[in-house]
Amino acid sequence: MAESNVDTATAVADNAKVNLMGMSQARLEAFFETLGEKKFRAVQVLKWIHQLGVTDFNEMTNLSKSLREKLVANAEVVAPEVIQQFDSKDGTRKFLIRVGGDNAIETVYIPDGERGTLCVSSQVGCSLDCSFCATGKQGFNRDLTAAEIIGQVWQAAKSFGQLQANGPRKITNVVMMGMGEPLLNFDNVVDAMNLMMHDHCYGFSKRRVTLSTSGVVPALDRLAAVTDVSLAISLHASNDEIRNQLVPINKKYPIAMLLDSAQRYIEAMPDSHRKMTIEYTLIDKLNDRPEHARELVRLLDGIPVKINLIPFNPFSLSNYKRVSEGALRRFQTILLDAGYTATVRTTRGDDIDAACGQLAGQVNDRTRRSERYKLDTNALLRSSDDTIPVRLVN
Ligand code: SF4
Repeated sequence: MAESNVDTATAVADNAKVNLMGMSQARLEAFFETLGEKKFRAVQVLKWIHQLGVTDFNEMTNLSKSLREKLVANAEVVAPEVIQQFDSKDGTRKFLIRVGGDNAIETVYIPDGERGTLCVSSQVGCSLDCSFCATGKQGFNRDLTAAEIIGQVWQAAKSFGQLQANGPRKITNVVMMGMGEPLLNFDNVVDAMNLMMHDHCYGFSKRRVTLSTSGVVPALDRLAAVTDVSLAISLHASNDEIRNQLVPINKKYPIAMLLDSAQRYIEAMPDSHRKMTIEYTLIDKLNDRPEHARELVRLLDGIPVKINLIPFNPFSLSNYKRVSEGALRRFQTILLDAGYTATVRTTRGDDIDAACGQLAGQVNDRTRRSERYKLDTNALLRSSDDTIPVRLVN
């Protein structure tokens, strides 16, 4: 069981301090009952923490003095620590956040007109080893607790002065698209997303909180029973042959199975106009040709989607190259002509290494994967520019 799910009654009995940062309303209510207090205290404390950014119980002035003393003795409110904040010329803000020992994760804020999207991590590293991903090359360390997930939102919001009455609403959207596969940390991610959407916390609508998955189908099948956040699928390929190389979990849960599951999730939503987002990273001479675009059109026929094209952002441990402007526009035009909404994600924060996993990777490369990738991709890309690599991962 994750750290944040530690049984509150046991913790109080053992006199260990309970971290309230990642607690859902239901768990906070249970906690207050163990203290002999009324349940409504839970909402009061949620507001202090997540709307006003207060972590010192003595500043929670609508709690009685005796309750504040009980809380000081039994509980704490602790967000993960920001090691460093990087501000790009284009307004992108990246946080390097310590999560115990020498482990670090990344959280990125990306402004775009009226919208400000916070990209949040769910795991320390990632086990899924996608071949185009800097995080995947660091290996997996552990799941983040619910406190560490919502704590990223808390720290970012606090940095913008958002956690105060009438504070600026800089963060308007949250995407679970940072380091890690969110569906492999199911309970903690669901708890944290529920706090993001809670009226007495951050109050984001379900359309403004998005979970992005690379395709953990059994977990995706369970998701509709517990939430109705927006869904993004990290597809990146128009057929299983290419996707097996880019996203190895595809060998277990191939594209057809993944799209079926995603469609069931969307159809289970109460409102009928929801679309899922298809994320497609375009890599030079790998998945960026017109025939791939046409294949994608056929693959997605009849599925309510919008497509987000992401030019691959090169980083030092990868041999993949960025898609050319011409190939990108040809690919997009085919999708648009077929009637899809197809946007291109502009590269942001180039001056601060904003591609996911780059900064944390500099803190700690946990495995020898990076060297293995370099050897594999060198061999494959040398073989022929016209040949799709047949193996990028073991
Ligand atoms: S793309 Fe996502 S799922 Fe794949 S290795 Fe990177 S963090 Fe993990």
